[in-house]
Order: sequence, then C-alpha cells, then structure tokens
Amino acid sequence: MFGGWLVRLLIAVLIIRALWGFFAGIFAGASEPRRRPKSGAGKSFALARDPVCGTYVQQSRALEARTGGQVHYFCSEKCRRTFMEG
Ligand SMILES: [Zn+2]
Repeated sequence: MFGGWLVRLLIAVLIIRALWGFFAGIFAGASEPRRRPKSGAGKSFALARDPVCGTYVQQSRALEARTGGQVHYFCSEKCRRTFMEG
C-alpha cells in the first residue's frame, strides 16, 4: 500500500518545514541588524544650557562660542551675541 509512506512523507515534510522555520527564525533573530546610532548620536542628542536665556538646546543644532577653551551653546544668534558682548 502507498498510504503508509505517503503519510510518513507528508509528516517528514511538515517536520522539515517546521524545523526550517524554527532555524530560519533563529538566524533571522541573530542577524537582525543592531540599532545603529545615528551619526554622532553621542553628541547630537546631548543637551547644553544656553547661559543667556537658560534654554536647553541640542548641541548639534545650537550655535557655539568658544571662550578660553570652553564651549558654550546658544539657542540663537541673539543670545550668542549677548553673551560675547557681555
Ligand atoms: Zn537663548
């Protein structure tokens, strides 16, 4: 009779497919791309306080002024100018 091996073949196929899916899932999980920090994430998300108006600004977006080796960050050109003049 063919029924016996046909059923076994179907079961074997199902098992192989299940195992394939299992391992494919493991490999997919292992090779999942790690969260890459956006370029310069360490600095760009750091906040600095505007010494003039007290606003917290993102260092990557803020205006910079260097005085005596120190870097100050400002929310606007106006604040920067006020700081430099004062
Ligand atoms: Zn400001």
